[in-house]
Amino acid sequence: MAGQVIKDLEQLLGAAKVVSGEALNDHYDHIWRMDVGLNAHGLVLPRSTADVSAVLKYCNDHDVSVVMHGGRTNLVGSTETDEKDLVISLEKMNAIEELDADSRTITVQAGVILENVQQAAKEQALLLPLNFGAKGSAQVGGILSTNAGGLRVIRYGMARELVLGLEVVLADGTVLTNLKKIIKDNSGYDLKQLFIGAEGTLGVITRAVLRLREAPRSRTSAYVGIDDYASVVRFLRFMDAGMAGTLSAYELIWKSTLVSMTTPPSSAKPPLPLDHAYYVLVEGLGSDQTADQARLEQLLEEAMAEGMIADAAFAFSESDFEWFWKIREDVHVIVSQMKHDQHFDISLPITLIGSVLDEITVELERVGGVEQVFVFGHVADGNIHLMIGKENESDALREQINDVVYGPLKAINGSVSAEHGIGVHKKQYLRLCRTDAEIALMKTVKRSLDPKNILNRGKILDL
Ligand SMILES: Cc1cc2nc3c(=O)[nH]c(=O)nc-3n(C[C@H](O)[C@H](O)[C@H](O)COP(=O)(O)OP(=O)(O)OC[C@H]3O[C@@H](n4cnc5c(N)ncnc54)[C@H](O)[C@@H]3O)c2cc1C
Repeated sequence: MAGQVIKDLEQLLGAAKVVSGEALNDHYDHIWRMDVGLNAHGLVLPRSTADVSAVLKYCNDHDVSVVMHGGRTNLVGSTETDEKDLVISLEKMNAIEELDADSRTITVQAGVILENVQQAAKEQALLLPLNFGAKGSAQVGGILSTNAGGLRVIRYGMARELVLGLEVVLADGTVLTNLKKIIKDNSGYDLKQLFIGAEGTLGVITRAVLRLREAPRSRTSAYVGIDDYASVVRFLRFMDAGMAGTLSAYELIWKSTLVSMTTPPSSAKPPLPLDHAYYVLVEGLGSDQTADQARLEQLLEEAMAEGMIADAAFAFSESDFEWFWKIREDVHVIVSQMKHDQHFDISLPITLIGSVLDEITVELERVGGVEQVFVFGHVADGNIHLMIGKENESDALREQINDVVYGPLKAINGSVSAEHGIGVHKKQYLRLCRTDAEIALMKTVKRSLDPKNILNRGKILDL
């Protein structure tokens, strides 16, 4: 049976689109494990939606389990495979099919890399607002399947808000095509949203129509020092109101984290004296550099006069922008200071972030084996990242840390995943943020779209 699958697929698609045996060693399941060959039964590289449909129909008919691979940058183990899995990668389906500047849309195949979409939009003075550290590898199909967020969600929303149309192939090979460029469509259920954030468990995304925005003509940014959490929340509302819709980022960094980000071994220097409890990096994207800069300076002066903020430093040049944003984005500086690391992307109500994170940090420091705790996040979205340095990789320590971080979330209606998804790593914690009835409905949806459970089996849910 095993060798037969490869032979059948070669016959179905042509041998050039099927990889098996020793050749799998040239492929990998995660960008951080490129040196480890792919452990899978085979890998197929479709060139068209029709190819994807033919492979899925075959796999469904023959009970072959399928794992989808995009850019393999996810952080929840969802592209891991075993020797029974057939991997489908859309890396050869990487065409930008159309950029319609007047409709402000871009129609792409799902294997196109995020950075290439951003670049194509930029060439037409347009913006694809989605942006995050893995943009050079992550593909549209993977990004939509994880409903990625990033740094500008406060202004433009998560990935799902940028999708106007989607083409998906179901487990049995049925092709659902809805590649409309329209923003409003209330003709029945919004089916595309079912597949966005489904981590490849309900269907394979093959093409998408993404919504573009006008590229901003001005950019302003500042670091602000704040001494208490209540003022972080007050200042957010003040800035959002004062910047009249142009506030595009509001990133919170706890003091001890900023210290590690801006003192050796980091080469970055601190933007402000390191004596405030919190630091906020604000950004505005607008249309008039001089007026927008003046408005930002005036707002920060007012905020300081009202006692909301204690200090501020402005970016005035390209090199200032680079310096300010590299501090926030270069999380490898922190990771490099840890023996072993564990990462979190939790969501919680904005007003509770200060107190709950204080409690979590105190609890973590009591766990034997925890060496460092770094906290920062997209606070305007209620999304906080924790990076925890620890002395070993044992399951016991990992679970102890998970219990401390995830423990408070159920009672306060938070989420164990703001951005990265559930995959395999967070499966056992899903019940902390979803009710039994919700999980039961998720299983019903999964069973109805993929009755043989061939797609990303064991990811998000165990059936
Ligand atoms: C350095 C770094 C920074 C990051 N920063 C952020 C951030 O700021 N915000 C954020 O939200 N995330 C972030 N991430 C994680 C983020 O979820 C992923 O980077 C990205 O969204 C996944 O895209 P990918 O193409 O790599 O998908 P993969 O990792 O290949 O796959 C992700 C999931 O989608 C499925 N899948 C892939 N392609 C398809 C398809 N065509 N159809 C159906 N299912 C498919 C896979 O099976 C898997 O379940 C970061 C990751 C890294 C490494």
